[in-house]
Amino acid sequence: VFEDGDEQQRYRDIREEAKAIAKLAEPLAPEADESGELHQGIYDLLRTSSICEIAVPSAYGGRFETVDPLAFAIVREVFMGASAHLDGLFAMQGIGSFPITVGGSKEQKEEWLPKVASGEALAGLALTEPSVGSDLKNVKTEIIASGDDLILRGQKSYISNAGVAAFYCVFGRENAGYSMVLVPAGIPGLTIETGPELFAPAIIGTLTFDDVVLPAGARIGEPNQGFDLGLSTLGTFRVSMGAAAIGLARACIEQATRHAKSREAFGRPLARLGPVAGLLADSWTEIEMARLLVYRAADRARTDPLGNVNYASMSKLGATEAAGRAVDRCLQVMGRFGLERDSPIGRYYRHARPMRIAEGASEVLRLGIARQLCEEVK
Ligand SMILES: Cc1cc2nc3c(=O)[nH]c(=O)nc-3n(C[C@H](O)[C@H](O)[C@H](O)COP(=O)(O)OP(=O)(O)OC[C@H]3O[C@@H](n4cnc5c(N)ncnc54)[C@H](O)[C@@H]3O)c2cc1C
Repeated sequence: VFEDGDEQQRYRDIREEAKAIAKLAEPLAPEADESGELHQGIYDLLRTSSICEIAVPSAYGGRFETVDPLAFAIVREVFMGASAHLDGLFAMQGIGSFPITVGGSKEQKEEWLPKVASGEALAGLALTEPSVGSDLKNVKTEIIASGDDLILRGQKSYISNAGVAAFYCVFGRENAGYSMVLVPAGIPGLTIETGPELFAPAIIGTLTFDDVVLPAGARIGEPNQGFDLGLSTLGTFRVSMGAAAIGLARACIEQATRHAKSREAFGRPLARLGPVAGLLADSWTEIEMARLLVYRAADRARTDPLGNVNYASMSKLGATEAAGRAVDRCLQVMGRFGLERDSPIGRYYRHARPMRIAEGASEVLRLGIARQLCEEVK
């Protein structure tokens, strides 16, 4: 719901801005999306544009007064349609810096947020551990106050931007609660191992904190605020994963449709064979349904991200699951050509899959959504 035409135009302009960057990224995508290393060409596109400003509030070099989930969703829908690598780098600028935006000290904000906005610093958020993913309350990483210092001990794995980020917001156990600390890359005691290699390549790695000594000012927010910071981050950005899923699915269905229109079998284009038409029609329908939900959730998240976290979960669940079905159907439409290693369909197929696991696996989201439903229905 827009206040006026200017506000609506602002979002249209963001979409056009994202499209111009995505167009330049498209030729680089086959190489960038097949590599777990930072792709310089894609990174340069982000840095030379001003699009990362959307990830940071205007007081610290960002575009808008507050980080806007709708603007973020619009950009991710466009970016993911062009390149998973581009989308991943952009997404992490918001997700990796948001704990600082909502809970950081003035010094932390002044030091890091302008660099995130310009793209000079890449951001990382470290929650997951080798033995803990969804069940975050079981993290083993410890934050120990010791005189004027904080000691950080533990290991984080599958961390996006590991090895290329300038800093990591790290979630750990502190006494009986959970806190977050800001850890600059290169600090003594932090070692980083990249990988493992995924079939949908991404920049990920393991961070090991071997009694890393941090100043007390490295804590983000108050002691025991770690869970709230994590929730705020998810409440603001989860919906954008749904948007990314739609962007990918739409790009995939366009590819399959071109093929189905031009390839003939049994005397007519594939697209005119009933079951093939059905595969395309069902995919398009589901993508459009998901898009409506994603944009409704993004609009709600603009004013109250935490109060609408269930909408964000529903949109991420609905869109990523719809994208999963769409890429599978599209590959079927392509026949054997969809199986070729270098086919764009193969790339979409692989990169759709992690979206149903990362940032809240579908099954975990369903639990939260059903819990909310039970609370609402009297
Ligand atoms: C490409 C990629 C990038 C990532 N980047 C980051 C990052 O930057 N920072 C970070 O901290 N983490 C990151 N992760 C990790 C990601 O957030 C975790 O994979 C996710 O939280 C799920 O945890 P898990 O994989 O350990 O699965 P587990 O928690 O082991 O769950 C496995 C499966 O069990 C089921 N399940 C689990 N719990 C429940 C439940 N309560 N009820 C019902 N079913 C359940 C689900 O089906 C789930 O898929 C990344 C992962 C990927 C793939």
